[in-house]
Amino acid sequence: MKYVDEYRDGALARRLLAEIRRTTTRPWALMEICGGQTHTLVKQGIDEMLPDGVRLIHGPGCPVCVTPLEQVDKALAIAARPDVIFASYGDMLRVPGSTTDLLALKARGADVRIVYSPLDAVRLAVANPDRQVVFFAIGFETTAPANAMAVWEADRLGLPNFSVLVSHVLVPPAMTAILEAPANQVQAFLAAGHVCAVMGWTEYEPIAARYRVPIVVTGFEPLDLLEGILMAIRQLEEGRAEVENQYVRAVRREGNRAAQETISRVFEVGDRTWRGIGPIPASGYRLRPAFAPFDAERRFEVGEIRVNEHPVCIAGQILQGTKTPLECTAYGTLCTPRRPLGAPMVSAEGTCAAFHAAGRGLGAPARPLVELAAVPETALAAADGPGLAGALPGSSR
Ligand code: SF4
Repeated sequence: MKYVDEYRDGALARRLLAEIRRTTTRPWALMEICGGQTHTLVKQGIDEMLPDGVRLIHGPGCPVCVTPLEQVDKALAIAARPDVIFASYGDMLRVPGSTTDLLALKARGADVRIVYSPLDAVRLAVANPDRQVVFFAIGFETTAPANAMAVWEADRLGLPNFSVLVSHVLVPPAMTAILEAPANQVQAFLAAGHVCAVMGWTEYEPIAARYRVPIVVTGFEPLDLLEGILMAIRQLEEGRAEVENQYVRAVRREGNRAAQETISRVFEVGDRTWRGIGPIPASGYRLRPAFAPFDAERRFEVGEIRVNEHPVCIAGQILQGTKTPLECTAYGTLCTPRRPLGAPMVSAEGTCAAFHAAGRGLGAPARPLVELAAVPETALAAADGPGLAGALPGSSR
């Protein structure tokens, strides 16, 4: 498949791994931001093939995982109303709230529907003028343009029965919070390529400069990640702290200006609470006052909801990268993808789900990238890999 197969090439992967080994002289700790990147790294076993001392810390970039429990409980309260059609992406349906989840609510008769686009929810509102249609607008900067467009379209159509429950979060404030945490161990970031496709990377430049931390905008395929790791380690070894772009086939420095304008017409930056992390100033989007009539929290007056996480769940430490799922006493026993206790086990991008899918700590055989699995350590160390920067298809830096 174009733009997929060439980024899973085993020979190039071996060369990149060998180059990473040649480049590394000291232990380093890198954080990949995005849960999609975590899944590729864990599924392919890339994190276990890196040189001793090079550690990947799995970051908070799973939108389902960081949607705060109180927002999930608000969604449940709104979805339970008989006059409401509650529309959501499918992966939010099994996220546990304080007492239940949207899927269980649906099984009990609530009108909860899976949609693939917020514009589908707008269409539902047009088709059901006697019902209130509420869309659960979650995600990072990646989903914000489409969600903003839905609100804009509902406003244009003058729809009185459409609203959004907003829980949008932003990457740069989370990176800053991680770097300022007393227990921080992150020395370099692999930034999420799709977020940067929308926002560009100018927001990351002051972070790299202020905290002396390399940031590499990175894609999601195995070779993207290996090259991103190599670029980050090169910077660390050379004492540089810059923003570099591995994902040149999709990301430009300024990002997608049209998408950014769509976001800023509808949303403004505000404080947000992150599940497992807590409040982070100016770390999310909220509707601008002009679009307040589309705010589901106001329309249904759900107000303040105080909640508690499951007592054994350490999702907060997982999301901040200070612990791995293997350090959770519930992992694989009390908490499984079929019966999740916390959001990181629910979402396709959650770190706990990624570990579970790869059989980590479950006695199951590892399932790394087939071509790499067959290569002995000595062959990796001896692989010939000069001039790898730019070797990947589409590279032009
Ligand atoms: S394994 Fe389950 S209980 Fe443990 S941190 Fe992950 S989601 Fe929470």
